[in-house]
Amino acid sequence: MTRSLLRKCPSCGSYTLKDGCPQCGGATLMPVPAKYSPGDRYGEYRRKLKRDSSG
Ligand SMILES: [Zn+2]
Repeated sequence: MTRSLLRKCPSCGSYTLKDGCPQCGGATLMPVPAKYSPGDRYGEYRRKLKRDSSG
C-alpha cells in the first residue's frame, strides 16, 4: 500500500514529499486529516456521559 503523504510548507504554502521545503528550505508539516479533528473526542465523551446517566 502506497500512500502519498504530502507535506505542506507553512511558510510558502507549497507541497512536497520531503521534510524540507524545496522552495524556501523551511520545515514542512503533515496536514491533519479531518477524521482526527479534536472535536471528535468530545463527541465520544458526551456519548459516554449519556450512556452513564441512562443506567
Ligand atoms: Zn516553503
